[in-house]
Amino acid sequence: MNKHILIVGGGYVGLYTALRLQRKLHRELRGGEARITIIDPQSYMTYQPFLPEAAAGNLSPRHMVAPLRRILPKVRILNGTVTKVDHAERVVTFQPAEGEPRQVAYDVIVMAAGSISRTLPIPGLTDIGIGFKTVGEAIALRNRVLHLLDVAESTVDPEVRRRALTFVVVGAGFAGVEALAELEDMAKDSTRYYRNITPADLRWVLVEATNRVLPEVGPEMGKWTLEQLRERGIEVKLDTRLESCEGGHVVLSDGTEFDAETLVWTAGVKPSPVVNDSDLPLDERGRIKTTAALTVAGTRDAFAAGDAAGVPDVTNPGQYCAPNAQHAVRQAKVLADNIIRHLRGEQLVDYRHKYVGSVAGLGLHQGVANVYGVKLRGFPAWFMHRTYHLSRVPTLNRKVRVVVDWTLALFFKRETISLGEMEHPRDGFRAAVATTRR
Ligand SMILES: Cc1cc2nc3c(=O)[nH]c(=O)nc-3n(C[C@H](O)[C@H](O)[C@H](O)COP(=O)(O)OP(=O)(O)OC[C@H]3O[C@@H](n4cnc5c(N)ncnc54)[C@H](O)[C@@H]3O)c2cc1C
Repeated sequence: MNKHILIVGGGYVGLYTALRLQRKLHRELRGGEARITIIDPQSYMTYQPFLPEAAAGNLSPRHMVAPLRRILPKVRILNGTVTKVDHAERVVTFQPAEGEPRQVAYDVIVMAAGSISRTLPIPGLTDIGIGFKTVGEAIALRNRVLHLLDVAESTVDPEVRRRALTFVVVGAGFAGVEALAELEDMAKDSTRYYRNITPADLRWVLVEATNRVLPEVGPEMGKWTLEQLRERGIEVKLDTRLESCEGGHVVLSDGTEFDAETLVWTAGVKPSPVVNDSDLPLDERGRIKTTAALTVAGTRDAFAAGDAAGVPDVTNPGQYCAPNAQHAVRQAKVLADNIIRHLRGEQLVDYRHKYVGSVAGLGLHQGVANVYGVKLRGFPAWFMHRTYHLSRVPTLNRKVRVVVDWTLALFFKRETISLGEMEHPRDGFRAAVATTRR
């Protein structure tokens, strides 16, 4: 058959699809009858639910990513971006990390490029806002929060201090609530090492345009989460929008104004821009129009799943599957099997999964869960959150490393130093060059 299967994106859908194809097509791969390629800018899959824990310093960032080349030895990994998909010609334009773009031909394509932050044209947002979708963003935020504690302790200007100690998160879904709760917990914990900063000096503001937080765990547990956050002294502003944040001056729709050095934007996601540079059909929300069998509508040899795809939820007619890992992992399994069925001329099967609810971490020993109708809060939910994600993180190697990180955290105090210097590795050398006499 000698078919080339091209997977655009090596995240949840890309990795799990390739893993299953690598296992189920091992004979064809060995005999040269099939080839699999993944294209992704990164050489690893990011386990995004662990981003908040990595930001809080409970996990090493290296342990929450899965190295594609090691896990997928039978798959060719190309690092770079797909900038265009021409399905009529069965070819994509690939922009490698270095050098000229080139064309990569395929027989079957899997669109698994995920999503990016959905932003709004708010004055100042591009200058001071930061997202929370990548390892880089999570670790930069961690460094930033800790650095700002250093700034606050070292300044004599009360304005600078207040601004440094004010942190804003916009969007109260999974990513926003978990990021805020973990970072707040870490910052509060860190104040014990500072002489003139107490937990009461930190100001955390969560801004949400709707009237609820964490919809993923249902109304009852969402309400409980809201109360918990408020009890911790976090200002949660519901039915409120960010109007502007020029120069770090935050203006909210309820009339509140204040200065903040840090603004995290987690107000939703939109499909990766590559979907717009393709001849594949899109739905009304700009996602790839996908059938329940995970083929791209109107095609037989193009597949899509995950955050970039609008997959009909057959358990809830008229609705689409939500963009989350729970669906992405399960879709990847059906998608890989359907590719094999397609190659063998067999009938495809539909993707069917009823959303079972969610778990969320809210800081060390704190969590909330609503899974299969079982509602948990506090320590039991946090324990469930960790156990569930440990069972899900890919490879035994990563599971062991994660357990070691967590175990060490039981016995030793967490690291509370900012390594923001790593973001500017050449500054010291440049300064040295500047002092060298001719
Ligand atoms: C902080 C956070 C916490 C979360 N917690 C949970 C949780 O607890 N439970 C849950 O179910 N879900 C959770 N999610 C959501 C979940 O992580 C996503 O739904 C899931 O990652 C989607 O999988 P995907 O394969 O579609 O996209 P991704 O996993 O994002 O993978 C997309 C890949 O495509 C690559 N890519 C993008 N554009 C291109 C291009 N043009 N060319 C080549 N490659 C490209 C990207 O680099 C990336 O590697 C969380 C998300 C975040 C951000």
